[in-house]
Amino acid sequence: MHLFSDPLAVQAEALRRRSLGQRVGFVPTMGFLHAGHTALMDQARSQCDWLVVSIFVNPLQFGPNEDLDRYPRDPEGDAEKCRAHGVDAVLLPDGFYPPGHSTQVAVSGLSDGLCGARRPGHFAGVTTVVARLFGLVQPHMAVFGEKDFQQLAVIRRMVRDLALPVDVQGAPIVRDADGLALSSRNKFLDGPQRARALSLSASLRAAQTPNTRDVARLLTQARANIDADRIDYLALVDPDSLLPMQVLDRPARMLVAAFYGSTRLIDNMAIPAPGAP
Ligand code: AMP
Repeated sequence: MHLFSDPLAVQAEALRRRSLGQRVGFVPTMGFLHAGHTALMDQARSQCDWLVVSIFVNPLQFGPNEDLDRYPRDPEGDAEKCRAHGVDAVLLPDGFYPPGHSTQVAVSGLSDGLCGARRPGHFAGVTTVVARLFGLVQPHMAVFGEKDFQQLAVIRRMVRDLALPVDVQGAPIVRDADGLALSSRNKFLDGPQRARALSLSASLRAAQTPNTRDVARLLTQARANIDADRIDYLALVDPDSLLPMQVLDRPARMLVAAFYGSTRLIDNMAIPAPGAP
């Protein structure tokens, strides 16, 4: 496995691999890797010849009062996990943006609600970093987790709108045995907080057998099942447009963001229409 600290060196190697007819796969991450990340690597591994993982805590996607400074890091453990999952190259950049970097990529509409409404500028930071990463890594395909459901939708839209030749694939959420969605931020939860955070997945799971088409009632029921210090949002949306639904007359997605102390967790699940098989 090759460790790159120079982003442009990855690009040179990616272009060389492509010229040999190799298929380049890519998994972008912010590190502190867990089984959710390695599942993305496994999915990509079987579909490419040269698999690149990036580990970069992107300052552009953090707001001024967010957890950039305390975001957990473990570069050595991360490299070990990448090696164990057959990754060919890790980009751990030393200086990611060029001096005077001044380009922003932003997807309007899909970025505006849900997490975008609570974290202004977040998705512009995400699309800006992913656009540059795609330019550097030159992937044929890239895998993103459904854990960040809105992010996946926003990146798919960016790739479509900019006609980037990248096959963007989603991967299912990986959970602990008790249902908690794996997240690098789970490390910040103390025992009681972690126990209460199980109410997020439990509440979404209960909503998967809806007893009404009335979305306001479904959200009230789901909210009552959530034990959090603060619910940032709870929404039931159309899975493609991410717009709120009033009537559950077709498959939907329920998404939640909630705080435990200063730790913000997100989760989501597919919700079938009532009576659907
Ligand atoms: P992050 O390091 O949090 O930026 O995540 C990097 C990638 O891993 C994103 O595509 C996430 O959606 C994905 N990811 C993070 N946690 C999980 C999980 N529990 N299951 C599946 N994918 C995940």
